[in-house]
Amino acid sequence: MPSNQHILYSPIEFLKGVGPQRAELLNNELGIQRFGDLLYLFPFRYIDRTEYHKISDLRSDVTEVQLVGRILQMEEVGAGRQKRLVARFEDDSGQIDLVWFQGGKWVKNQLRLNERYVVFGKPKSFKNRLNIPHPELEKWEDHEKSIRSALQPVYPSTEKLTQKGLHSKGINRLQEALWQQVKGHVGDTLDTNFISDHRLVALEEALLNIHFPRSIEKLEKARFRLKFEELFFIQMSLVQQKNKRHQKLDSFQFPQIGPKFNEFYERVLPFELTGAQKRVLKEIRRDLGSGYQMNRLLQGDVGSGKTIVALMSMLMALDNGFQACLMAPTEILAQQHYAGLSELLEPIGLEIKLLTGSTKTAARKEMLADLEEGVLPFIVGTHALLEDRVKFKSLGLVVIDEQHRFGVAQRARMWKKSALPPHILVMTATPIPRTLAMSLYGDLEVSVIDELPPGRKEIKTVHRYDENRLGVFQFMEQEIDKGRQIYVVYPLIEESEKLDYKDLMDGYESITRSFPLPDYRVAIVHGKMKPEDKDFEMQRFVSGQAQIMVATTVIEVGVNVPNASVMIIESAERFGLSQLHQLRGRVGRGADQSFCILLSKRELSADAKVRLETMVRTTDGFEIAEVDMQLRGPGDIMGTQQSGLLDLHIADLAKDGQIMALARRAAEALHRADEALEGTQYPRVVATFKRKNQKKLHWSRIS
Ligand code: ADP
Ligand code: MG
Repeated sequence: MPSNQHILYSPIEFLKGVGPQRAELLNNELGIQRFGDLLYLFPFRYIDRTEYHKISDLRSDVTEVQLVGRILQMEEVGAGRQKRLVARFEDDSGQIDLVWFQGGKWVKNQLRLNERYVVFGKPKSFKNRLNIPHPELEKWEDHEKSIRSALQPVYPSTEKLTQKGLHSKGINRLQEALWQQVKGHVGDTLDTNFISDHRLVALEEALLNIHFPRSIEKLEKARFRLKFEELFFIQMSLVQQKNKRHQKLDSFQFPQIGPKFNEFYERVLPFELTGAQKRVLKEIRRDLGSGYQMNRLLQGDVGSGKTIVALMSMLMALDNGFQACLMAPTEILAQQHYAGLSELLEPIGLEIKLLTGSTKTAARKEMLADLEEGVLPFIVGTHALLEDRVKFKSLGLVVIDEQHRFGVAQRARMWKKSALPPHILVMTATPIPRTLAMSLYGDLEVSVIDELPPGRKEIKTVHRYDENRLGVFQFMEQEIDKGRQIYVVYPLIEESEKLDYKDLMDGYESITRSFPLPDYRVAIVHGKMKPEDKDFEMQRFVSGQAQIMVATTVIEVGVNVPNASVMIIESAERFGLSQLHQLRGRVGRGADQSFCILLSKRELSADAKVRLETMVRTTDGFEIAEVDMQLRGPGDIMGTQQSGLLDLHIADLAKDGQIMALARRAAEALHRADEALEGTQYPRVVATFKRKNQKKLHWSRIS
């Protein structure tokens, strides 16, 4: 039974070296109230003190160094605020000054000349010479037998804590005091057989080595155990949610592949499906035939051919007597889908309509009536489809394109339009690292189109600086002469940003000057335009009348103009990686060699450099997504908020994908073996899981 009397619940105030004042501070600054909280305050890095440096090797601005040698002399120099203690320190390679600007007198009394010391600190360059300000010193003998390990933990601290002596070192001392108290009483959150089955170390062993690692190997084992446990319990609840959903949500069963599907497949489909498309269609077909609601995420890089998969799924619904709708995040994209799908459906005599915010009242009325009567089988639209007045006779399938722009709540509104929850297919071209997808969408099935249609040439990507623009214009001219079309994209992060807007307009003018009428036509699309105007300009480009499209990122998503083969991105350093990848995906859709030119200023931040280099190096959306996550952390990736994955204490989504995969498998296996979670196999694991679900105390314990 968990007991509140347990030592880990003791108020932190009563730990040796804390007391009421520091207790309040620890609570305010780090949220530490009880022994257990402190035990779970982990170092965020370790300084490797297994290595010793030579004075003669030291360079300025290197990180902390550790020296072994002796003090030759000590001297207080300067006066007033300049006053400082300088100690001359020597090893067998050279000499260096150790400097104290405060507390010199005290230090001087502590230190002995000609004794062997270990010096630890960060060298600084002063008047072209190196010294080490405020180093730590330890007698060699003490250092050798110190219980403190060679890997020195660094704890998070704050200015207020530091003022009260609770810098990293001070916290380390508290951890030592804490350890004396809790040693032998930590217990475990996992069963012994679970621990051995997954090659973990016991909790107490892990915690000991997190705070006082005896070796890198032991530290690694400790970290693995704690990360695994953390990810495992998250996966446990994701798998549970998924199982629950499977049990609960009956949906329409589509038993047959019918005539329209077959007719389309045999007569209309303009190309052979890729292996990946076929596989995904099979997965969808299985879901739709199961009688349970499909909740499937379809990931496929830009240009991988998701639309046709959506269309053929919609035909499956139709053949079983149901309606289907396709929802897109922007008006432009909805229109594109509408145009594309109409063309494909026309030969088999099927109708599809478009509903957006700008659909005229009369047309809308007719459409809504037809949907409700069931005479209109398909509809494409924007958020307008979510409105309550949009009713279906028998909505069986909802396809959502570019899922990340729709919230979960909005998706839920679609459910209400149907007697049973309709099947849901969400499609995204924003590749999410596999391990993350597995967690974020732990309650969704995930399908991946990991193969591009054949005959695509890899897009050639280059990075150029602004001053090379003339060369870029020449290149544009050549490509236009070959009959190609070109996008030029400007950043417009906030549609209201005046400066961005000015850049765009200046760019537009300079392009129209360089590519004048009557030989050239330049279209422009940006967020401040009226929908009709946008549409008009878009159409000029889609139809091939305009050779150049100057635009903001409104064209980021979904636009499909196969003849466009050059993507020029202005101020590319200001775009995020996934956005750059999306934009580049607008070209490379036809048979011609396509190009992407990233224009930037000369001075780039380190991150911007990595982003541009990555774009030049690879076109693989998953690889790009991995780099993106390394750069930004997973926090910005959609969905992480909801899943609780951001509250991770020790695991790191960007780096611990493999551990996550193991944890996922372990959670699935446990749910399989112990469906009702009775604790037949691992009673303590199940008890911990249930307790965690009740209250978010990560260190609570069974005793
Ligand atoms: P996305 O996955 O980005 O939505 P689309 O569905 O727009 O990609 O497809 C991109 C282009 O590839 C379209 O022009 C489409 O007709 C074409 N396409 C899709 N599948 C195939 C295929 N199996 N073979 C050849 N072309 C294909
Ligand atoms: Mg698409």
